[in-house]
Amino acid sequence: MPNTTRQTRKNRTITVDFHNEASYFQLLGDGKAFVECVLAFLLALGFQLAHKATCRGGGCLTRHSHYARVRLGGLTIWRIQCTTCRAVFTVLPHFVLRYRQMRPEVARNALLATHGGLSLEWCAVICNLSPMALYRLVCAFGHQGLVTVLTRCGLPLPLYVLADEKHSTCLTDKVYLPTIVRGRVIWHLGYTTEASAVAFTQSYGEFQRAASQQEPSYRVKGVLIDGFDSTTKSIRTLFPGARLGFCLRHALLKLPKKLVAIASPLRKTLRTQFHTLLYRVRQRKGLRVFALGQRLRHFVDHVTTTAGAANGERVRRWFQDKKAGWYAVLADPQIPATSTLLDQAHNAMDRKLFMMKGFHHPGGSQAAFLTGLAHLYNLIPYQRRALNAGKCGVEVEGGRLPTADWMLNLQILTSGGYQGAPAPPYH
Ligand SMILES: [Zn+2]
Repeated sequence: MPNTTRQTRKNRTITVDFHNEASYFQLLGDGKAFVECVLAFLLALGFQLAHKATCRGGGCLTRHSHYARVRLGGLTIWRIQCTTCRAVFTVLPHFVLRYRQMRPEVARNALLATHGGLSLEWCAVICNLSPMALYRLVCAFGHQGLVTVLTRCGLPLPLYVLADEKHSTCLTDKVYLPTIVRGRVIWHLGYTTEASAVAFTQSYGEFQRAASQQEPSYRVKGVLIDGFDSTTKSIRTLFPGARLGFCLRHALLKLPKKLVAIASPLRKTLRTQFHTLLYRVRQRKGLRVFALGQRLRHFVDHVTTTAGAANGERVRRWFQDKKAGWYAVLADPQIPATSTLLDQAHNAMDRKLFMMKGFHHPGGSQAAFLTGLAHLYNLIPYQRRALNAGKCGVEVEGGRLPTADWMLNLQILTSGGYQGAPAPPYH
């Protein structure tokens, strides 16, 4: 077909766990056993293969062809084909990384060091590879989206989320990382150069689109934000029916800034009283929305008496502005009350980004790099002394993992040839 423009082939690579290299090489000599082994692996995972859009599956696979990969030292890689739609799947054994000469053990150590906050340069030194190779490795995993990977783990699309932007820098420019978190899992980690509502809407919109593709009826029920204007606008645009809550901890941190020209002990006392107010209102379940309005009015009176009319007026206007967001938190117990878990995710990202010169490429693929880092955040188990020691974020949130090995999970879950489970009726 000389006149048709050649389309870039869809990535239909699947990573398959053959347990050890010897059994892989043994299977290479027996086509039937090879395909059976692959099918058994797919069955155990509960994954479907990503057939062509028109194909209704059938699961009838034959060994298609094979070729030797020179870059992998002559390793034979098999490809299998769907006999219905003719989609070809490249079967990558677990001990090989796609398009990379790097061995998974080397990648594992380098990624673990990266996740731990060691700079790309130092990771590269201890693992004897180039910083750029490591940067590209993270990007390669990041080409598979977070929503795809997380739903492959059986996590439901989140109904209640935390959303906020991390401020960072790229060389001398300010940049923002719009983030969506549910519990211990990052669902979106974007990148914008502006703090406008338009820029944030575009970034958060990527999550919304990916989620709607998984489940067209998906609707977010509640979002907790810190109350920043651009964030509020973008979330309202993208999730029109969602309840918008404002973080109560942010409110506590903000109050002292509203109290000007008073002695420090008084400012501290008022902050403590405000803390008690929010705490008590949260305790009184049924009455708390009503109770909040009344208590806020009393608190303004109290500020006016103790800290003067100007401070009282400033706090009153601030309450006016924010109270709907606080009501929302109190009215729906499922909305997280504070953004603590999101701050933790941001702090973890910050440690990496700060130490990563690789990130500071204006021409780099920030989106893929950040998504790759987010996969590490979601899939690498916590350390021994941590609260959820030995488990990763996905497990803490109730997700299922293909194997007990996080690196293998990363390889399998980011494979382009798999299609999320359960499969839609007519994939
Ligand atoms: Zn097919």
